[in-house]
Amino acid sequence: MKTEIETISGETPGIAYELIVHRLEGSDQSAPRVYIQAGLHADERPGVAALHFLIPMLEKAEAEGRLLGSVTLVPHANPIGAAQHLYGDHMGRFSTGSRVNFNRDFPVPDESGVRALDTAASATFAERRLKSRLLDLADGCPIVLDLHCDDESVQYIYAPEQLWPEMADLAACLDAEAALLWDVGADRAFEEAVFEQMKASAAGGDLSGHCVTTVELRGQNDVDAALGRKDAEGICRFLQARGVVTAKAAAAPRLADGFVGKPIRHVDMVLAPVGGTILFHVAPGERVEAGQMLAEIIVNPGRSDGTVAVLAPQAGFVLTRRIRRFIRMGDNLLKIIGDKAAVASREGALED
Ligand SMILES: [Zn+2]
Repeated sequence: MKTEIETISGETPGIAYELIVHRLEGSDQSAPRVYIQAGLHADERPGVAALHFLIPMLEKAEAEGRLLGSVTLVPHANPIGAAQHLYGDHMGRFSTGSRVNFNRDFPVPDESGVRALDTAASATFAERRLKSRLLDLADGCPIVLDLHCDDESVQYIYAPEQLWPEMADLAACLDAEAALLWDVGADRAFEEAVFEQMKASAAGGDLSGHCVTTVELRGQNDVDAALGRKDAEGICRFLQARGVVTAKAAAAPRLADGFVGKPIRHVDMVLAPVGGTILFHVAPGERVEAGQMLAEIIVNPGRSDGTVAVLAPQAGFVLTRRIRRFIRMGDNLLKIIGDKAAVASREGALED
């Protein structure tokens, strides 16, 4: 494995960021190339933990001649966001300088298929140069994994509808509990920008064997050695299934029992009807029926009419819930994958 530390200069004198890039060389030019990054939302750490365990596994495969496809790994994809602290709290999701979400607004190809990337010398914000560089590093890789997490959550993946069900092997290898299938992007997340470039450059429009995803490795606090190792092993199994790493013949990976794979328009974004203190009645991974109590919000503590009940808008699967227990009116309380579509159509990401 070769490691390079790239420098991203800041916007003002004396500031620079380091981007660590590991490259492992596969022995078979025809095997798929792979790009994996973690920590693009710099406050989401399960992916970093997974790469901590995956990197030695891949180094071993490379040393033993079992690595067929070349792999590029960026374990800290957002050193800019990693450095943002405000009054002691880490702010890793949005750039405090531009107010833009670090996983939005990536450059995509225009109608003629041409994509304009910034370079290290472009006179623009560091985060824009970083976004272009990440896309650059992922270019030419038919397999691209962007490791994220949600608030409190089961493990789930996003997948372009065009690549489903082929990408179900990833969900099976990771032991994911759900997949959200999207067809129309709108806010140019990394996954969407990579997929647009894949479509623009795929020979004859053939996308077979391609995989691009945002993997939500459970919740923000689901970071420990056992989960990190499990996720690394899951990614390894997937790389074996896709012929990136040699493997002994094994049974085809099976989706987890109760796996829920639905179009993203099935997601019911349950919002808080009032502000207050949350008492959850359900947890991610549970099935709920229409009208079931999801949570109570304490508005007026100790009074008989002091809470407001939040009921399930339809039957479905609880995907995520808010990690903090204080909420504003209108904030997202839970995400439920409804048995029925929750909205007629949905373009772009579920939240800011
Ligand atoms: Zn994220």
